Amino acid sequence: MNRMEERSSEMIRIDGSEGEGGGQVLRTALSLSMATGRGFKIHGIRAGRSKPGLMRQHLTAVQAAARICGARVKGDVPGSSELEFIPGPLSGGVHSFAVGTAGSAMLVFQTIALPLALHGKASQVTITGGTHNPGAPPFEFVAECWLPLVRRMGFKISLSLDRPGYYPAGGGRIQFQIEPHKTLSPLELMDGRAARVVRAEAVVNNLPASIAGRQLSIISRRLELDEDRLNPVVTDSADGPGNFVSVRMSTNSGAAMESGFGTRGVSAEKVAEKICDAAVRFMSTDVPVGDCLADQLLLPMALSGGGAMRFTATTSHFLTNLQTIRAFIPFEAELQREARLAWRLRAGCPFTVNDCQ
Ligand code: ATP
Repeated sequence: MNRMEERSSEMIRIDGSEGEGGGQVLRTALSLSMATGRGFKIHGIRAGRSKPGLMRQHLTAVQAAARICGARVKGDVPGSSELEFIPGPLSGGVHSFAVGTAGSAMLVFQTIALPLALHGKASQVTITGGTHNPGAPPFEFVAECWLPLVRRMGFKISLSLDRPGYYPAGGGRIQFQIEPHKTLSPLELMDGRAARVVRAEAVVNNLPASIAGRQLSIISRRLELDEDRLNPVVTDSADGPGNFVSVRMSTNSGAAMESGFGTRGVSAEKVAEKICDAAVRFMSTDVPVGDCLADQLLLPMALSGGGAMRFTATTSHFLTNLQTIRAFIPFEAELQREARLAWRLRAGCPFTVNDCQ
């Protein structure tokens, strides 16, 4: 057995209850298992959540990962709190996956796209499910904030939205393509300049247009935006009702976004006010990366050899993701606090895909 075969045969053990104790622990483990060829066993899946264990979205991520790398899997049933995943070689091609509920298709995308791209497998993948879910990155955040940075690292991934899907009706559909390639390079996101608002959008799906108008009038007043920067979208393109509001910003390093969803029992104005609060807080810093984007950049950074970023906060999602990544690959991250809402990360990772083939 050579060194790589020896390493691949070791099962990595993950405690899913540690830190955040949510679904990201599992998804990051799946991505890195596919990327490195190393199997893992996880227990305590989503033990930190009120309904622990595998929900449809997590199960779809497991099944999608297993399909594209021919993995041997144990424990892939709804509600399971334990899973064993032994990956095989990744295969590209045409794939289609369905969450089957409004569970986030975006999180399934983030689980499988990087390993496929890292191994240079040309692929065309369709995922149906939720595209606009509270507690998960909405399509626009992934497409406008996360993916452009990931592409700058060298991952050749393109993504499109066919149909939006809101909770609880679901029925959204995204597609992504991977072009074969292999060269990745670390990204530095260190520039200090306060973000500025580019525009605000309020989408109402199968709901009265007046909701969007009320939300944009709050945003316009709070963020001093002229009418030409306000975009109300009234549509019936999704199954069921949905209201998604976003403030798009630009920083020296790329795009930033604060967003929220209309929720039963919460006034449309309150949804808009909360988004404005978050945008004002972000613009009061001089860092280019917000807290959600920071935790989602750790995996692509680790896979592309490291990098650096200044960001707003080390959330428990962030710290837990870092810990999960380190269970698989030697991701050396130096964290430093600069101010209340300013952190700095400098990371190096000697991992390359060739290590694992
Ligand atoms: P759970 O276990 O709670 O069901 P989950 O499987 O949906 O959770 P989490 O572990 O909570 O997953 O991870 C959710 C991901 O969604 C995190 O990476 C977080 O940064 C991201 N996220 C949540 N809200 C937003 C938002 N408004 N914008 C962008 N990303 C978001």
